[in-house]
Amino acid sequence: MFCKYCGSQIEDGAQFCPNCGSATERPSAPGGGNSQPYYQQPTYQQPTSTSNTIALVGFILSFFVTLPGLICSIIGYRRAPEYGGNGRGLALAGIIISSVTIGLAILFVIIYTVVIVQYGLAVSAI
Ligand SMILES: [Zn+2]
Repeated sequence: MFCKYCGSQIEDGAQFCPNCGSATERPSAPGGGNSQPYYQQPTYQQPTSTSNTIALVGFILSFFVTLPGLICSIIGYRRAPEYGGNGRGLALAGIIISSVTIGLAILFVIIYTVVIVQYGLAVSAI
């Protein structure tokens, strides 16, 4: 290696430069202060500390009371970025479940109505 002060070549294990007498720095010295900041990543861990409660509530509600479940799931899905993406999948599942339930309910009402009307027409035709 070379002395960083005078530039003359010195032995790799030498602690002092034989030319100018200044202390040499070993590049692989342990305990260097440079590696410490890499351990901390506070911006990454902070958003995941809180859980997206409204998404969980919406998911559960979507099984029992469809419309409030759908509303809570939509709110939870929109607020998911505030919780670092927490509960996004849960909210999405709640939206899908309540949407399917509402869709099936509407379909059932339509089919039921058609059947009733046709049955009624059939009865009145007799
Ligand atoms: Zn030197």
